[in-house]
Amino acid sequence: MTRVLVVEDDPQLVRALIINLQARQYGVDAAPDGTTALRLAAARQPDVVLLDLGLPDMDGVDVIKGLRGWTRVPILVLSARQASDEKVAALDAGADDYITKPFSMDELLARLRAAVRRTEEARLEPGTTLVETADFTIDLLAKRAVRGGLDVRLTPTEWHLLEILVTSPGRLITQKHLLQEVWGVSQSNKTNYLRVYMAQLRRKLETDPSHPRYLITEPGMGYRFEG
Ligand code: CA
Repeated sequence: MTRVLVVEDDPQLVRALIINLQARQYGVDAAPDGTTALRLAAARQPDVVLLDLGLPDMDGVDVIKGLRGWTRVPILVLSARQASDEKVAALDAGADDYITKPFSMDELLARLRAAVRRTEEARLEPGTTLVETADFTIDLLAKRAVRGGLDVRLTPTEWHLLEILVTSPGRLITQKHLLQEVWGVSQSNKTNYLRVYMAQLRRKLETDPSHPRYLITEPGMGYRFEG
């Protein structure tokens, strides 16, 4: 049974989540605040955490930091606010994905399944070095990209960027994280670097670079590799 820890202070939403999750055979624990969430996470070892960012006792981002001190459990953030700053802060602190309230239960369940599936896949294949899609193959060990039977020449910067994305399939990687990792800068005014290099990668790897299937942009947030 997949165990979900719901961290949310809105009792109506908690009730709706519990009913819907239990109907789909999830085991559910609920915490109305951050302190309880951290305690329950340690005691119950959930497979996935649904986390509201606006909690009565602490900032949801601090709950993420607390969890990330000892666990890689997937964290799906529920954010009522439109402010992308908060979502970016949550992702940078180690959240895996976010969903903006109000959301449909179907959308939430789909995201939840995807988050759990990603960790299961990662667990099945430790030290995966080959990333294969229908259109190209990335050999992380040999540092080789092949498309249509031909080697794709990538610059070191392109390679670095691609490597970060393909080793976390499905996960939204923030602009800030990519800029820090690849260029060692964190200023958001450097996001044009990312746009330029992502466009180059798409030209080299995507069949239709203007409608990317693998290297997906999340506007204002970051990028995601869909394997
Ligand atoms: Ca709240």
